[in-house]
Amino acid sequence: MLLHSIKAVMRLVLSGLLFTASPLLPATDGNVTAPTGPLVVLLYHHVADDTPAVTSTPVAQFAAHLQYLSEHRFNVIALPEALAKLNQGESLPPKSVAITFDDGYQSIYDNAWPLLKQHQFPFTIFVTTEPIERRYSAMMTWQQLQEMQQQGVTLANHSVSHPHMIALTKDEFQTEVERAQAILQQKLGSTPAKLFAYPFGEYTKAQAQWLAEAGYHAFAQHSGPLSAASAPQGLPRFSLSGRYASLESLTLRLNTAAMPVLNQADYDPFHPRAPKQLEFDLKNPPFAMTQLNCFYQGKPIEQVTFAPKTPTSSIMRVTITLPSTPAAGRSRVNCTAPTTRQGHYYWHSIPMFVGPATQQWPD
Ligand SMILES: [Zn+2]
Repeated sequence: MLLHSIKAVMRLVLSGLLFTASPLLPATDGNVTAPTGPLVVLLYHHVADDTPAVTSTPVAQFAAHLQYLSEHRFNVIALPEALAKLNQGESLPPKSVAITFDDGYQSIYDNAWPLLKQHQFPFTIFVTTEPIERRYSAMMTWQQLQEMQQQGVTLANHSVSHPHMIALTKDEFQTEVERAQAILQQKLGSTPAKLFAYPFGEYTKAQAQWLAEAGYHAFAQHSGPLSAASAPQGLPRFSLSGRYASLESLTLRLNTAAMPVLNQADYDPFHPRAPKQLEFDLKNPPFAMTQLNCFYQGKPIEQVTFAPKTPTSSIMRVTITLPSTPAAGRSRVNCTAPTTRQGHYYWHSIPMFVGPATQQWPD
């Protein structure tokens, strides 16, 4: 009965995006231990009832999210603190969650902040500086951002002009990052944390490497919990806007653990030509491989194969054959497998930005 209702909720929430009829049963391997995902990072844009639905979380839904985190005693942690701990190899308390907002919309100040204050939850806003400089009415003002910073809100870098980064030259990319960082420093009067969120979540491996050398952590927008194995300049977040704004959607995402995927920073999400296959390596997979399911465009992928890298290796190479050729633009493959806790999943998302990259890159 319980199983059925969980299944029903999952199907409803995901609209077939992630799960098929795979049974929600614990892995059959008796040796596995229940994992804890070290950090789930939530991503919001607008918190309002009258802004574009696809990037908005209704105010009542947002309030319900915070209430849920509070009632279920999640450890809502400031992003710089969480990343510093993971960097030093420290594990985070169970049920750690960080809250982030991209762009810097007025509704964060008007609607989200009062609710966050009630719960005393820390959070981070990734700010795009140019729309604020231009005083667009949908955006917060520098004065409001300063006020938030003085009360402990983390403000971080989301570029100057919110371009499609993968269409930029190396110099243009660096200028977007460095200028935004300098403007934040100047306007806010203190050195901002070295945190960057890619506009649209899009990036190339070369850009991630430049950010690594410059000392930044960087967030994208593919889904999944974050662990010490995540690429530090390709960190996942769960978006909770639009069709993902429901409380069921939140609880599903909170019930995830990072899949132990190796060498994630080696993957280049930018594909000049559409890929036919994707691969990743799992170290000592903590679930039965037959329970791994991968999904593309809302449908399960039939051709997911796996084999040890060498006959004696504990590393399992997973090969995913895409069912159709990805069009130019942004898409992703999500893979899940059950943990030993009912309704709890390992989750790994693979972003794909398929070229050619142009200034007319699709939003
Ligand atoms: Zn943005």
